[in-house]
Amino acid sequence: MLTKSSTESVRQQNSALVLSALRRSGPLSHTDISAQTGLASATVSVITAELERALVIEKSEQPAHSGRGRPRVFFSQRRASGYLIVVRISSDVVQYSMIDYSGTLIDRLEEPRNHGVAGTAPFARSLLDALDRLALRSRLEKAQVLAISISSKGIVDSERPRLLWSPVFGNEQIDFAALLQPHWSAKVTLNNETLLVAQALGLKADKSGAGTFRALAALSLGHSIGVGVARKDRFGELEVTAPNFGHMLHSPNAGLCRCGSYGCVEASAGFYGILRTAFEVPPDTIPAKFVPLAEMDKIAVSARQGNRMAGYAFRQAGIALGNGLSRMLSLYDRMPIFITGPGTRYFELLQKGIDEGLAQSHQVRRQGPPDISIIFDEQRLVFDGHLDRALTDIDNDIAASRVVSGSAAASRQEA
Ligand SMILES: [Zn+2]
Repeated sequence: MLTKSSTESVRQQNSALVLSALRRSGPLSHTDISAQTGLASATVSVITAELERALVIEKSEQPAHSGRGRPRVFFSQRRASGYLIVVRISSDVVQYSMIDYSGTLIDRLEEPRNHGVAGTAPFARSLLDALDRLALRSRLEKAQVLAISISSKGIVDSERPRLLWSPVFGNEQIDFAALLQPHWSAKVTLNNETLLVAQALGLKADKSGAGTFRALAALSLGHSIGVGVARKDRFGELEVTAPNFGHMLHSPNAGLCRCGSYGCVEASAGFYGILRTAFEVPPDTIPAKFVPLAEMDKIAVSARQGNRMAGYAFRQAGIALGNGLSRMLSLYDRMPIFITGPGTRYFELLQKGIDEGLAQSHQVRRQGPPDISIIFDEQRLVFDGHLDRALTDIDNDIAASRVVSGSAAASRQEA
């Protein structure tokens, strides 16, 4: 006989399965839900009725295909069941988006980052202020926001969640839990930006790969260099990580990096590394905090016109990237690489160096070079990664809390 707690946990798992099926491929009919989750028709009826009563999902009707007979009924998320705020911190702008429970974007505001103002305190104030304004503009109470999902470049402690090191704030840490919890009841999460890119790409490849997807890596090129790796674990779940690729050692006698070490991949391949080589600035010069894209475009034009040092700078950057990728492939095994970020506009200048850097390793000479694709719309991928992780979290929390409230209601009735 099942104990009460195990019955509840089965029900909780089944609710999570139904919500997950609706999240990935909704709206769905009763039959579709049953087919996708493997749950018996009667179980699906009980769960969908419960979720409908709890105002988590809703029904809609569509006329039957033939135009006659009973209309078809579809289930989907009820948009106003809760809200998600996505905060994307990049080197030049902070973007705030309000999303409803169905995953639809309802409002967005952007604020340029002020490079003249140093430190995390002014940033924290403007973050709190922007979140307040976003809720006010959407006419939502703070309690209706169930999750705040934040991303940044750099090294994150996603458990706490804390930003431990970032190109923007250096070693000055930001504890987002401590900052937001006094004001918001929402669950706060923090992820590395390129991890989210890998999450979105991995999910897409897994959906279209009919069970054949194994692994891929996303490489983001810009002021900093980021890598995300998405792999199927042995249970068939997507596992995504963000190894510290940008600050992996490329060559100990190469230039000074923003992190304080010498010879990181980023010190050669980040925008400031390319700029430093192109202008023959001494390699121990403290790196520029921010290099405007227009400045990089000028170096690229000059490289395309045959300027020797400008061409050499991109070639060296390419070699650092190629060497780094070959080391990663030696550790993880062969996988396709998706290159993204603002640096993709200079890809043809980097490519020769990347190929050269890759070919220097035994692994690549043995297995051949990896498939490399360019994806220009990085922001879209970051956003999709946010939605997938945060909305799945919300679904699981709803499934868990509903069981609790459901059993509380049941015990009240018993009493
Ligand atoms: Zn570094």
